[in-house]
Amino acid sequence: MRTLDLFVPYEFRDPVTRRWLASPGTLLLLMACAAVIVIWVLQKPASLSDPWRALAKFSAFNAISLLSLNFVLSVRARWMERLFNGMDRQYIVHRLTGRAAVLFMLLHPIFLLAHNSFSLEALRTYLVPGVDWPVSLGTLSFVIVCVLIALTMMFRIPYHIWFITHRFMIFVLVLSFVHAVLSGSDVGAYPVMMGALSILFAMGVTSDLYMAFFYRPLNSRKVKVLRKSSFSDILELKLMRPHGFNMEPGQFIFVQFPKVARCEFFPFSISSDQYEDHIRISIKAAGDTTSRLKDAVRKDDVLRILGPYGMFGKNYMSHDRDMIWVAGGIGITPFLSMAMNESIHPTGRRIDLIYAMRGMDDAHYDRELHRESSINRLFNYMHWLSMERGRISAEGIVREIEGDVRDRVVMICGPPAMMEALSSQFRKLGVPTRNIIYEDFNLLGH
Ligand SMILES: Cc1cc2nc3c(=O)[nH]c(=O)nc-3n(C[C@H](O)[C@H](O)[C@H](O)COP(=O)(O)OP(=O)(O)OC[C@H]3O[C@@H](n4cnc5c(N)ncnc54)[C@H](O)[C@@H]3O)c2cc1C
Repeated sequence: MRTLDLFVPYEFRDPVTRRWLASPGTLLLLMACAAVIVIWVLQKPASLSDPWRALAKFSAFNAISLLSLNFVLSVRARWMERLFNGMDRQYIVHRLTGRAAVLFMLLHPIFLLAHNSFSLEALRTYLVPGVDWPVSLGTLSFVIVCVLIALTMMFRIPYHIWFITHRFMIFVLVLSFVHAVLSGSDVGAYPVMMGALSILFAMGVTSDLYMAFFYRPLNSRKVKVLRKSSFSDILELKLMRPHGFNMEPGQFIFVQFPKVARCEFFPFSISSDQYEDHIRISIKAAGDTTSRLKDAVRKDDVLRILGPYGMFGKNYMSHDRDMIWVAGGIGITPFLSMAMNESIHPTGRRIDLIYAMRGMDDAHYDRELHRESSINRLFNYMHWLSMERGRISAEGIVREIEGDVRDRVVMICGPPAMMEALSSQFRKLGVPTRNIIYEDFNLLGH
């Protein structure tokens, strides 16, 4: 259940490292929000004379601004993920602005009713369609938001259905904007306010139109399945590498499987090295779609891919310290390409990779990693079998490695609970938060 999760849990901190979500993108966003508030205050709107009315108008102005920015933050582009230091963090900020926008949207009618002393006449204007059409448009957008929230809170809907319902938010933005312009609000009366809001609105709508109609056709590339193999719950696909496909180790692609889910692209890390003539992805049967792929996907099938994306590998390449890599289950995939990169371009630093899994039956990439370890003497590979040793812990890892853990950069990829626990334990052992880097396999939040 995503219930109360809807507004608060992500705070303004990274869920795994508890660091502030500081990045150039967050700074730009905060500056945009501050500009919106300053513009509103400097215009000294007439509504300022009445506190409830002022609060209502201020909420509406913020709701539309934040919702517009929220659409901008949904754009999947390399420059965008660079601004936020990773697409997972971009999406955390996207969720935060969305929640803040919805909160302001819900507050707006409450403040308005308070301004009108909760009179029946005011209620009639808000609730009866057509009494005042611009107001009714606002009510309609409010109802759509409430329905979407109720759906999210009451049912654990599959991702693809949730994604479709999410698309309705553009109607909310358009209806809210038209409502604000026509309903005799501050926005209609003050040109600077109108100008600022129109710019944000145009940016929001353009971003949504781009994502809905142009992003995929313009950026996706067709690839053929060259080889398919599977072991237990993992499906491994080797895909033809499109011409001009440049990747860095640790990156991921979005893949569409037309036979199984025609309208969706799923993110998967590339587990082959960047010089191979193919792209390898390793897919764990984790949910509705991934469980059907083993039977549905065949050799020579044509899939579509988007990307590559991801900052995990960039973070690895930009640090020159010794490292500890911790992978939980399928979280091993980004490390596979990074380990191969370490053998091809040895950086002279020591890397210890700990691969946590239940038992040896799950050690799918064991042989491959032992091979890398034999090629590169500074790359030390070991596994952690939770059936024998219990849950992986930072203290346990430290016992296995040489040197001071506080001088290491720790990179983690695995289930959210494991990443959160390890991050907290490593921080307690003195690893600075900035040296804990992780890849979140769940863009929607934990
Ligand atoms: C950066 C990144 C790299 C990943 N690399 C791998 C990998 O190498 N191997 C692997 O097995 N898994 C990987 N995953 C996870 C994989 O994408 C999900 O397991 C898969 O999408 C689940 O789809 P489903 O429909 O089977 O499951 P569902 O039960 O429908 O979804 C489970 C969860 O997966 C996420 N999800 C589903 N569809 C999408 C989508 N289209 N876009 C974004 N998130 C979605 C949602 O958070 C959802 O709650 C990665 C995820 C991310 C974000």
